[in-house]
This record gives sequence, structure tokens and C-alpha cells, in this order.
Amino acid sequence: MAYQTLTQLRTALESGATSAEEIARRYIARTEAHNGALNAFVDFDADSILAQAQASDAYRKTHDARPLEGLPIAIKDIFCTRHGRTQCCSNILRDFRAPYDAHVITLLREAGAVLFGKTNMDEFAMGSSNETSAFGSCRNPWDTDRIPGGSSGGSAAAVAAALAPAALGTDTGGSIRQPASLTGIVGLKPTYGRVSRRGIIAFASSLDQAGPMTRSVADAALIASVISGHDAGDATSVADAPDAHWLEACDARDMQGLRIGRPKEYFVEGMDREVRGRIDAALAQCEALGAEIVDISLPHTEYAVAAYYVIAPSEASANLSRYDGVRFGQRCADPEDLFDMYTRSRDEGFGAEVKRRILTGVFALSTGYYDAYYKKAQQVRTLIRRDFDEAFAKVDVIATPTSPITAFKLGEKKEDPLTMYLADIFTIAVNLAGLPGLSQPCGFAGDLPVGLQWIAPPWREDRLLAAAAAYEAATDWHRHRPAAFNDTAAGGAA
Ligand code: GLN
Repeated sequence: MAYQTLTQLRTALESGATSAEEIARRYIARTEAHNGALNAFVDFDADSILAQAQASDAYRKTHDARPLEGLPIAIKDIFCTRHGRTQCCSNILRDFRAPYDAHVITLLREAGAVLFGKTNMDEFAMGSSNETSAFGSCRNPWDTDRIPGGSSGGSAAAVAAALAPAALGTDTGGSIRQPASLTGIVGLKPTYGRVSRRGIIAFASSLDQAGPMTRSVADAALIASVISGHDAGDATSVADAPDAHWLEACDARDMQGLRIGRPKEYFVEGMDREVRGRIDAALAQCEALGAEIVDISLPHTEYAVAAYYVIAPSEASANLSRYDGVRFGQRCADPEDLFDMYTRSRDEGFGAEVKRRILTGVFALSTGYYDAYYKKAQQVRTLIRRDFDEAFAKVDVIATPTSPITAFKLGEKKEDPLTMYLADIFTIAVNLAGLPGLSQPCGFAGDLPVGLQWIAPPWREDRLLAAAAAYEAATDWHRHRPAAFNDTAAGGAA
């Protein structure tokens, strides 16, 4: 039961076979049984979850069901929620309670969803392993000695282990797609401007975008259809975005006539051999489904990581200047004066990775270095966007691995930030170019999940969904479950 998709749960609710309360109780029981092993949730209030589920059951008695009626959705700790805590997994926001809901949270509530706890993440979404969280790392359900990916690691682990049927994440340089890949689930990052950022704690404002993490492509489309749309409260939210035909796009069952670009820069030496094998096999399967594989080049790919790690920290250094001990969260004890209060509150509140980003950003933006670093990085960003424009003149979608490696051991890369940054190579260019991207499970390397990434032109999420839905319908990788969390005792087995 627990491994059902949102779509299946919705059918069961509609037929009266189950209730929102029963569903909520099942996932609460699983979370209580397994969160100790995974550390996927950092704030969890069973009473509030049950109250929302009961309210949904009552609503259904007198109204037509809304799109997400009674469906539990776990929320990354980066989204402001009126209830519970919003801490961004940082000590500087410890026990912070947001005065309002993020716009997407309002949309979820209005669609009847049950907000199912706050999930673990890298501090301020800065990381690829969830190890920078102030609440300790989350663990990968496929092997609890390994990282779930990051920064939306808790959302990924919760969905992969069926502690929740779906979750929200955010993606600045891969934080939805990479953990989805490393835990064997579906993750969708929409086109920049598709989903409102209001009330989502800002990391890098020109890159951040929220999206769903689910166990099926159709589920990702369902959530995306609810959370997308113009919001006058976010200046970068686009007013006349073309419709993505979210649900219809998922009806695709073949790839007849689809031109899939295979960028040579994404199939390089140094990539895990088994990962490579899985992606090659997936592309062969796409050909069997009627697609044409076209070799393409995205020549500026090699500069993406460097450009990102200038732009993202620069924006972060500005965004994080608001945490000064005055308005939000932690304030140091017994400050000597105002300056001492600012500096000590920040020193005590921020973790090492966040400090590294702030320092990098302040440096890149400072007089004398601005032209050499920040401006250069923005120019590279334009070149990267042009690479994609040229590629999409020849192909409909691009397919790549989501990550060059599978989930690594906890601690393995923690002391080596550069190696950690380099692992973001396949996801980062998508954010720099503002494109939509989707990761879906496409097999295993050893016992660890491998993700296939789809990239489309701006506003063409329908192409991602159609390709991914056709692949999903022809394979059963998305149905595999991590053995340790497939127990009947806590409602795991179907
Ligand atoms: N791993 C990347 C970083 O640390 C991306 C994080 C994200 O998308 N939030 O910046």
C-alpha cells in the first residue's frame, strides 16, 4: 500500500476504498518506524497531519474533490510554512517559525494536499549529499551507509522509502534531480519562472526553482500542474507561460519521431562505467520505442561548474546578508556591541559550507574582481544558453546521465568540496540556462539506482514528461523498492 503512487491513492480515495485519514495514518506509522534509520524528516507533527487529513475527508463529503485531495506531500525545509518550523536545516534559523506560507504551499493547501512534515536538506540547500545539514545527514534507503544526494536529500529518501508518497524539493544546480537519481525516484525541475519562489528561502535567486519528487512521472506532472502559474508576488514568475499540458503529456507510450540529442560532452572519461552502461541501455530502449538518437555538442559544458560556483555563491552572499541576528533566528549571547552581535551571530549560526559560499561570493563581487569573476561567469552563462539554443534547433529533447556517479559513502567527499562540486557537472548547466529538466530511474549500478536526465527547451515540460512517461511505461525500474524499507509490518508491501 505505501508504495502506491499519488494517482493510485487518488483512485482509491475516489472509490471510497480508503480515506485521507487512513492514508495519513499509514505514512505516519512508516515515518515513525523508519525515520530513525534515515533522518529524512527534521520537523514532524503527526497531530497536525491527521487534522489536515480529517479536514480533507470532511471536505470530500460536501464538495468535489480537489486535484490533490487528501494526498500527503512532504515538504523540504526550505519552504516557509505557517505551521511547524522552517529552519532551512541551519542553526541560524533554529526553531524559526515563518509568519506565512510560501506561495506554492498555499497552492498545495488549496488543492487539498496534506502537508506531511519538513524534510532534511543541506544547509540553505548548499550541497550535493545532505551532509551539510545542521540536523545531521539524511541516509539513502538503498544503503544507509550512503548519502541520499542533495540538497533535497530528505525529500528523496522519504519518497524512495515510502515514508511519504511524494515530496517538494528545490533545484538551484541539481538539488531535485541529483537526489532523485541517487535514490531511484522521479524529480522534475520546471523552467525558471514557471513556479513562484515567494516564501522559498532564497539561495541563488536567478537559479532557484521548486518542483516535485515522486515515484512516477504522472505524479510529478500532477504536482507540477498545481504548483505552477504566475504569482504577482514574485517578480521573476512569468505571467504568460505556455501551458505544459502536464497530465496529457504523460499519456505518451512511444517515442515515434522523437529526436533525442546525446551531447558528447556528457559521456566522458571518468564517468562510472556501470552508470554509463545503464544510460547507453536506456538510450537503446528509446530507439526501440521509435526515437532517433542524434549526436550533438554542448561545447561550453566544461565551464558550467566554474561559472555556477561563482554565480550561485555571489547571489547567496547577498541573500544571506539578512541573517544578522536582528530579524531572523539565532542571536549570539551577550554581544558587546552591534558589530559583535552581527559577526558572532553569523559565525555561530552558519556552517562551514555556507561560510565558504558567502566568502567566495563576497570575493567574486568585490571591486577589482567583479569583472574577472562575476561578469565572466555571466558571459559564460550566455554561451551555455546558446549551446542549448543551437542544440534544440536539431533535437526535441536531450538525454544525459543525471549524475556521473551513484550514491557515495557518508563522509567520503565531505572534506573535499571541489570533488563534491565537480559531481554536479550534468545538472548545473540546465539551471544556468533556465531550462526544465527531469530525472527518472533507469536501472542500477550494483545495488544503487541510476538516473536518466531529460532536458527540454524553455516551457517544454510536456516533452520531458512525454519522453519520460513513454520510457517508464516500457520499463519497471521505478517499481523497485529498497529491501530494508519494503516491510509488511509498517505497511510497506502492496
Ligand atoms: N550541489 C549544488 C550546490 O551545492 C546544487 C544545490 C542546489 O541545487 N540547491 O550548490
